[in-house]
Amino acid sequence: MNILVINSGSSSVKFQLIEMPSEVLICSGLVERIGHADAILNYKTRSGVAFRQIDHIESHSEGLRKIVELLLDPEKGVIANKDEIAVVGHRVVHGGKLFSETILITPEVKQNIAEYSALAPLHNPHNLEGVLVAEKLFPNAKQVAVFDTAFHHTIPEKAKKYAIPNEFYEKHGVQVYGFHGTSHQYVSAKAIEYLGLKTSKIISIHLGNGCSITAVMDGKSVDHSMGFSPSPGLIMGTRAGDIDHGVIFFLINNLGYSADEVNNLLTRQSGMLGLTGHMDLRDIQAEAEKGNAHCQLALAMNAYRIQKYIGSYVAAMNGLDAIVFTAGIGENSKMMRRLVCADMDFFGIDLDDDKNESDSKVMREINAAASKVKILVIPTNEELEIAKQAFELVR
Ligand code: ADP
Repeated sequence: MNILVINSGSSSVKFQLIEMPSEVLICSGLVERIGHADAILNYKTRSGVAFRQIDHIESHSEGLRKIVELLLDPEKGVIANKDEIAVVGHRVVHGGKLFSETILITPEVKQNIAEYSALAPLHNPHNLEGVLVAEKLFPNAKQVAVFDTAFHHTIPEKAKKYAIPNEFYEKHGVQVYGFHGTSHQYVSAKAIEYLGLKTSKIISIHLGNGCSITAVMDGKSVDHSMGFSPSPGLIMGTRAGDIDHGVIFFLINNLGYSADEVNNLLTRQSGMLGLTGHMDLRDIQAEAEKGNAHCQLALAMNAYRIQKYIGSYVAAMNGLDAIVFTAGIGENSKMMRRLVCADMDFFGIDLDDDKNESDSKVMREINAAASKVKILVIPTNEELEIAKQAFELVR
């Protein structure tokens, strides 16, 4: 069965066509800069076709139509007709309180996704647009929604409620929802399979442009660093992560910022960018190595924040079997992994420096032989996780 996975963002559409249950990637691609005259379409297939094309792509529907034309193209394509795609799996960021599982998309589900746009204004409207366009393009395929928030439904109330009056939780849904759920679910399941444990305590550390950390006990999320929005927790590319809300009122009341300006400051101009002037960790590492004190301190702050979360999740789970590094930084930054694992021997975390230096791109163990806790690097694959969940649902 062929499953087309669509991840529709604010100005981009990522896609993968995956054969299930073999998990073979048939083709993948990305349309970026939608709405611009020089939008970019990247495409590659397992048979070796690969190209990049600059084109005027006005909207998501036009982008998706171009993707479908490519899939059907007699030379570059991979399918002979649209009915070879049985299922379209959609990444949907926010499933609110309602969706704890992957679900077939019905008119009611679409309405719920639209309602949850209030909680994820930068994501849900685009995710929904992807659904509407795919329904038109693939009228015979089943449309499935996989929610980023679903994996975190198992977080107990003591961890997901904020200590504000109950009515905000009960009537207005103010609580921890959590994000990056598909990634945390994918890598923690891989870790559990690798460890071969019946009961397990794992900390999954997703470090990309957005960063989050999850305590996963027996395969279930029990605590997580992001919250009502994807702002709190770890220090990210441009987001501050945890911050005293008193700072927000100081900015507004004393420095004359508007609410929108504060939001922009904390989500787009802070984090590693605010601390160093750079967003890409590779640049920050290179500067730190040349002696740039701001970059050195930002890296130390970033790792320290992660260490504090690890400590608190060891307490939350009363133990730890493994920590997992994933996503762009987690998979590739030897320096960040080294800083996070430094001086953590009290918790039984002991890195093997040589193994950490490996450039391998596959799942690997990088702890010292005597380390009580396994340290794993597991490449995330959110698209495959979406395909797996969609396949389980429809078969
Ligand atoms: P997104 O959250 O947008 O999916 P990614 O998971 O692709 O992002 O991660 C992007 C981040 O990964 C960037 O900050 C980039 O600096 C970092 N990164 C990618 N490759 C490396 C590398 N070799 N060393 C250090 N950081 C890297």
